[in-house]
Amino acid sequence: MGEPRTGEGVMWKQPIDSGPLPKSGETYDSIVVGGGPGGAAAAGYMAMEGKRVLLIEKETWPRDKICGDAVGGKSLSHVKELGVKEILEGTPHFRVTGIVFSSPKGHSVRVPLPEEDVQRLEAGYSLPRQQFDHLLFDQVQKMVRDAGGDVIQGGDVKDVLYDDGNGGDDPGKGSGRERHAKGVVVRIGGRNGSESTFHAPAVVGAAGFRCPVAKSMLQDTYDEPMMDRDHYCAGYREYWRGVKGCEDNVGDIEIHFVDTIIPGYFWLFPVAEGVVNVGIGMVMSLLDRQSNKLKSMQAQVVAEHPLFKERFAQASMIPGTGKGWQLPFGSPRKKALLQPRRSASNGVFLVGDAASLVDPFSGEGVGNALVSGEMAARHIMEGKSPEAYQDALWKALGPELTNSYRMQKMSRRAWLLNWFVGKASKKPAIQEMMTEMIASKEAQENLHSPWFMFKTLMF
Ligand SMILES: Cc1cc2nc3c(=O)[nH]c(=O)nc-3n(C[C@H](O)[C@H](O)[C@H](O)COP(=O)(O)OP(=O)(O)OC[C@H]3O[C@@H](n4cnc5c(N)ncnc54)[C@H](O)[C@@H]3O)c2cc1C
Repeated sequence: MGEPRTGEGVMWKQPIDSGPLPKSGETYDSIVVGGGPGGAAAAGYMAMEGKRVLLIEKETWPRDKICGDAVGGKSLSHVKELGVKEILEGTPHFRVTGIVFSSPKGHSVRVPLPEEDVQRLEAGYSLPRQQFDHLLFDQVQKMVRDAGGDVIQGGDVKDVLYDDGNGGDDPGKGSGRERHAKGVVVRIGGRNGSESTFHAPAVVGAAGFRCPVAKSMLQDTYDEPMMDRDHYCAGYREYWRGVKGCEDNVGDIEIHFVDTIIPGYFWLFPVAEGVVNVGIGMVMSLLDRQSNKLKSMQAQVVAEHPLFKERFAQASMIPGTGKGWQLPFGSPRKKALLQPRRSASNGVFLVGDAASLVDPFSGEGVGNALVSGEMAARHIMEGKSPEAYQDALWKALGPELTNSYRMQKMSRRAWLLNWFVGKASKKPAIQEMMTEMIASKEAQENLHSPWFMFKTLMF
């Protein structure tokens, strides 16, 4: 890969050559559907161990992904293991050193990320997903092909194939019974393209919140709902230039609980070179009760809010960048047998957004996509059962997702936010506690201790 260049010629605005298309009927060790962070991790970790993988992505690079663009510390170990960290660090990016939170009343508190992580370049970055995903996909597609696998761009997975019990293919629709996945049907070359069939004993669903593999498993096989408006979030982002206070390539990202958009929040995430990702998110069932759409709420905050109107006075939105998408949260569902919902069954392993794993407080999903991608890959390679994957996944991510859900619910109350951020802005002990919470799982355990919380907040 050559030196990254700036301007229109940058590598992440170029196509990726992922080799010749495989012939219909081929068989692999595993098929991965979706080439975002979850799919890239699953395919990359399997290719690393010499497995023959078919990686299928619907879009053709270069492609955008609607996101806040923050890549937290949790992601960086995977980015490193997959061989992308150094490449990423050679391209423009914003290095995150802290998070600023503000309350509806306008108090703010800065939570520094742990100094040692910042020094070791392990705290977090923000950079456009078009760039991040391009770097990751390009690296992984090479690993997959080096290990004897294949990669398809412009391949829209339409169906999952199941064993019909007689060694034939059962095209997955409307079965309503347990069956073993054995492949996929892909349409290649757009609407009028041709359909190909590929087989593998394990199919990884990594195609985001509308993943066809998740849909087939949840809705068609188990008759379980995929979407839950209490646990899905609507998100809207725009790119801006010239926002005051966001000029540098190192500094803080900002999360603002603004009075006009409670119970949602407004973010400013600089992504380097003077560009800022500006966005807004709200849980869908709560948005249903609002008369305004996210786009107009954001326009109002930018133009009129006393904390922001001055900062945006000389700024301009980059045309065509205003887009919305959904975030499937990993918050625990009431009375569900499997949390946050079913994420695996015979031959099917769901990862990332397809498994509904976005953090319900911060909205971060890249880290959990990478973590689950690796976990699925290891379970498949070690021949472990889908149930073992489901258990291991919730064991690893459940405690923090549950904590974040509690915090999300607290943040719906303006008075509580005002009180908490007001206290935190004056008490270094609370800021330290929040830094620790971001850094370590053990520290998050403290959130369960009423005495710890009482002591830190009151004294
Ligand atoms: C507005 C917004 C802001 C966000 N902010 C942040 C943030 O700041 N930080 C963070 O960590 N997370 C953020 N998230 C969440 C994050 O974007 C996702 O959690 C993350 O992208 C999940 O990765 P994934 O690989 O599971 O899915 P995706 O990134 O969605 O990738 C899925 C891939 O599958 C492909 N695909 C889809 N259908 C098919 C098909 N039929 N066949 C083949 N391929 C298919 C898609 O083209 C895509 O490339 C945000 C999300 C939104 C919407």
